[in-house]
Amino acid sequence: MNVNTNLASMPAGYLFAEVARRVKQYQAENPDAPILRLGIGDVTRPLCPAAVDAMVRAAREMGTPDGFHGYGPDFGYEWLIDAIIAGDYAPRGVEIGRDEVFISDGAKSDVGNLQELFGADARIAVTDPVYPVYVDSNAMAGRLGKYESGRWTRLTYLPCNAENGFVPPLPTENVDVVYLCYPNNPTGTVLTKAQLQVFVDWAMAHNALIVYDAAYKAFIADPQVPQSIYEIPGARQCAIECCSFSKTAGFTGTRCAYTVVPRELTFDGCSLNKMWGRRQATKFNGVSYVTQRAAQAIYSAEGQKQIMDTIAYYRENARVIGKGLADAGIQVFGGVHSPYVWIKTPDDMKSWDFFDLLLRRANVVGTPGEGFGPSGEGYFRLTAFNTLENTREAVNRITKVL
Ligand code: PLP
Repeated sequence: MNVNTNLASMPAGYLFAEVARRVKQYQAENPDAPILRLGIGDVTRPLCPAAVDAMVRAAREMGTPDGFHGYGPDFGYEWLIDAIIAGDYAPRGVEIGRDEVFISDGAKSDVGNLQELFGADARIAVTDPVYPVYVDSNAMAGRLGKYESGRWTRLTYLPCNAENGFVPPLPTENVDVVYLCYPNNPTGTVLTKAQLQVFVDWAMAHNALIVYDAAYKAFIADPQVPQSIYEIPGARQCAIECCSFSKTAGFTGTRCAYTVVPRELTFDGCSLNKMWGRRQATKFNGVSYVTQRAAQAIYSAEGQKQIMDTIAYYRENARVIGKGLADAGIQVFGGVHSPYVWIKTPDDMKSWDFFDLLLRRANVVGTPGEGFGPSGEGYFRLTAFNTLENTREAVNRITKVL
């Protein structure tokens, strides 16, 4: 068999494995060390009661002759699609058609699978640092050239750092697709409408596609900050948007998400909406009825209140981290419209050295920025997903070390 050598030769997914290895080794040497984890990218608060009640009801229905559901509609139940349109788009003045929303089991699968729409030699750009799935899924498809000294030779990196205020520069090379993620993982920063408009205008002028990952949109606290790229004029002609219930409603283990592919999106005379529908109908068999009912329930008035209470809890953690470290003289970014706080390491320490320092001296685990891409070197990510109590304790310990 002729194997996919692009996949076989992928560099190991080293970031979280290396974090785990170092923590394990430290723990073996210091079994009583009270380690606090601020590297967690997963939610920790329970599902909201509205979602749980809906799941229980749906599960009971499934056990009755009349309420049983087998395979659902390919692209999701209409009642969930309608709830999404009414809850996430209509209030922001964005019109989305039912046939433009595709329910899925996760934004990770969607952002990973979307590259199947691109030509084999499409040129890709990502912001740097970056959520690794955009890069790896294109590398597996053979679009990114060789991996040399921590960089792909055929990938355009758009560096985001303190110097440019984490606003990515436009690609100067010929690029077919740009991945944007706001609020950003890992930097926790957002773009204003005007800054996003620059990318939409660029994409329109260059016949390029934007894949917009809005997995963290529920954390946006300021109505002026766009929650959807479709708030930007022109975006329907150039952007696909991926959203998820994972961080919005604690569905990381429940699995439900959606992707919007507008009808206007055509390249080389081909409709991306039709292509994505064809792809999904072939390779994906839908999200369970029980899970889609749970997702629908978060759009009820009580569901909205409950999920926003949980988001407020995480937001407070992020505020505690940001304020505590800023007061200690650290340069802090993100953490306002995001569960992620991105900090500049003191004295230009390498991010892995800072990781070791915090692990050994504060018994706090974070994530070294270098693991998210070359421009992450010299930065460090802390997350708001621990308890408030642990978060306060971790910040106290870090500030003592500093
Ligand atoms: N997109 C970004 C930027 C993420 O950080 C994550 C998860 O951490 C995902 C997507 C994955 O979302 P899901 O749980 O819906 O697959």
